[in-house]
Order: sequence, then structure tokens, then C-alpha cells
Amino acid sequence: MTQQRMALFAGSFDPFTIGHKSIVDRGLQLFDGIVIAIGINPAKKPWQPLEQRIALLEKIYADDSRIKIATFSGLTVDAARRFGASFLLRGVRTVADFEYERQLADINRNLSGIESVLIYALPQLASLSSSAVRELASHGVDISPYVPTI
Ligand code: ADP
Repeated sequence: MTQQRMALFAGSFDPFTIGHKSIVDRGLQLFDGIVIAIGINPAKKPWQPLEQRIALLEKIYADDSRIKIATFSGLTVDAARRFGASFLLRGVRTVADFEYERQLADINRNLSGIESVLIYALPQLASLSSSAVRELASHGVDISPYVPTI
């Protein structure tokens, strides 16, 4: 049997946007399975409670057995090993993202040998970020166009 190629897609996902979903969906062309891992930072109060983020992701991917939802704290590469993922999946929107992702990929490769696989954002989603969605929500704007429909 050939080895399953698993990737870890880690982030805060506060909230999970259609930009994130696009990276996961397109990542499935490269990987047999993807673990979407919500990073927990005990020092930071999230905008969307963790339980809600987990529940939403589980609903979005309920019919796709290739996707697993998990949480982690600590190093992303340790989480990847724990979940049997040999790759880190990331999205790149801008030049600024690129440089940040390049540094992260270097550090993670040095720590563990795990390679990062970067997928370009779709042009129409390249300006979308969780922080922009939070900002819009704080002004009472309907954020439903920016988050996956269930
Ligand atoms: P953080 O790493 O700050 O927790 P996020 O949870 O927002 O960031 O993002 C996780 C990953 O998703 C990152 O690789 C980020 O570049 C990517 N990403 C976020 N928004 C988009 C988008 N609109 N299009 C493509 N990739 C995105």
C-alpha cells in the first residue's frame, strides 16, 4: 500500500474564511488528507470561541473523510508529527505573506525536516483576512459573504 500523503493546515482561523477554505480545497489536489489544526494561544482571548470554531469546521467538512479537525498548542511541527502529517500547507496572499512564510518554512524545516507547501491565494480572495472579517463584524457589517456557508 502506498503511504498516504497528509498535510497539516494550521492557523488561528478566528474566523475560518472562504480564503482558508480555498487553500484546503485546492490542497486536496496535492494531498490524500488534510488536518485542519486550530492553534490555541492561552494568552490571547479569541474573537470566536474555540468550541464554535471547531463546531463550524466539523460541519463544513462533515461529508469529507479526507479532512480532520484538530486543535493544538505548542510547536506546529510537533502537532504535524502527532497527527501523522509530513507537510505543512500554507496560503500566500502578498509579498509580505511570502517573506513571513519563507521564514516560518525555514524554521520548521530546520526543526523537523517537515516541508511547507505554499499555495497562492486566488486573486479575488487575496485581500481577505480573519482580522479584516473581525473588523467588519465589529462595525456591524454582515460577514456571511466571507465565511463558508454550511
Ligand atoms: P495565523 O497563521 O496568523 O494564525 P491564519 O489563521 O489567518 O493565520 O492563516 C493560516 C494560513 O492561511 C496562512 O498560511 C495564511 O497565509 C493563509 N490564509 C489566510 N487567509 C487567506 C486567504 N484569503 N487566501 C489564502 N490563504 C490565506
